[in-house]
Amino acid sequence: MSKHVTAPALAVDVRELLQKPGAHKHVVVRAPLDDLATPVAWVPGDRPVTVDAEIESVVEGLLVTGTVRATAVVRCARCLREFDQELEVEVRELFSLERSPADDEDEGYAVLPDDRLPLDTMARDALVLGFPAAPLHDPDCQGLCPVCGADRNTGDCGHGGPETIDPRWAGLAGLRTTLQEEDDARPQA
Ligand SMILES: [Zn+2]
Ligand SMILES: [Zn+2]
Repeated sequence: MSKHVTAPALAVDVRELLQKPGAHKHVVVRAPLDDLATPVAWVPGDRPVTVDAEIESVVEGLLVTGTVRATAVVRCARCLREFDQELEVEVRELFSLERSPADDEDEGYAVLPDDRLPLDTMARDALVLGFPAAPLHDPDCQGLCPVCGADRNTGDCGHGGPETIDPRWAGLAGLRTTLQEEDDARPQA
């Protein structure tokens, strides 16, 4: 998991909830987060991330339930063009009251020494999991030509139909070309 525990951008004062099981409050916090990126999607540093959540004091700690929202830039898996996509990811996380959790995995999921709850790690983890695995700018995206790299959404480069996009069929396409050439029975120039 991420290790961004210094100077949280999304921190909430929870002093009134500590050691009071049953107490709760609703918070909406919004701030940009750094390093929020994968190879296919990212949230630029000038775009805020919003956490809208109910924080409930329970015996084990603080339970945060709500949503994390942001507008990500994602890259089409076929034609590589970039486009915006709204993300809204549901979260439900238990934060420990221990000041320095022994377990590394809890880092970022614990109340800070100054009684603030840092929501950065939760928001970052939720958004990265919410990033689309293979985004398409359009369900019918024609992709890039495997021969010349042209964007097939913007025109025909003359290298055959969209069926040759999928590399799994490349062998079959080559076989068909060979058969056609034999059919033609004409010497190639
Ligand atoms: Zn595309
Ligand atoms: Zn081409």
